[in-house]
Amino acid sequence: MSILTIKNWLDPVLRKKGEPIDNIDEALVKLTEDMYETTLDAKGAGLAANQVGLPYNLFVVDMGIQKDDHDLITLINPVITAMEGEELSEEGCLSIPEVYATIKRALHVEIKGIDIDGNDVRYEAEGFMARAFQHEIDHLKGSLFWDNLGKARRDSLKRKFRKIQKEKVA
Ligand SMILES: [Zn+2]
Repeated sequence: MSILTIKNWLDPVLRKKGEPIDNIDEALVKLTEDMYETTLDAKGAGLAANQVGLPYNLFVVDMGIQKDDHDLITLINPVITAMEGEELSEEGCLSIPEVYATIKRALHVEIKGIDIDGNDVRYEAEGFMARAFQHEIDHLKGSLFWDNLGKARRDSLKRKFRKIQKEKVA
């Protein structure tokens, strides 16, 4: 397995919609294994394929991150089938490092998709994990968490991002 480079939001691939996957081959299995390792290395809750430069309709999430008992799963061609309730909570993104914002999300979601073995799978999630699923689904639509905010707030977060990047180079 190897750690992949996570693209930041300035890379146009983050705006690409995930292309549907109809064939799970060895290369795809290898990609998801590398994405697991990359997610763990970055201490993230999940990662969408376009974040590592491949605009496929696939993401991985760590179902065990809250218990520090890592359990990474892959969802291929995922679809949210139910959303309920509302919750405001802080959110970040591995493609927008060190920038966080309070985002309104559904409290409860049901999601279905295909796992890396080709099986139909379905998950129910609440709170943090429901948020992670909605965040990754946004990525597959070419959207980022700050697209859920108004332009003024988003612009201020972009300035913050640039300031942090500048300080890193300095
Ligand atoms: Zn993200």
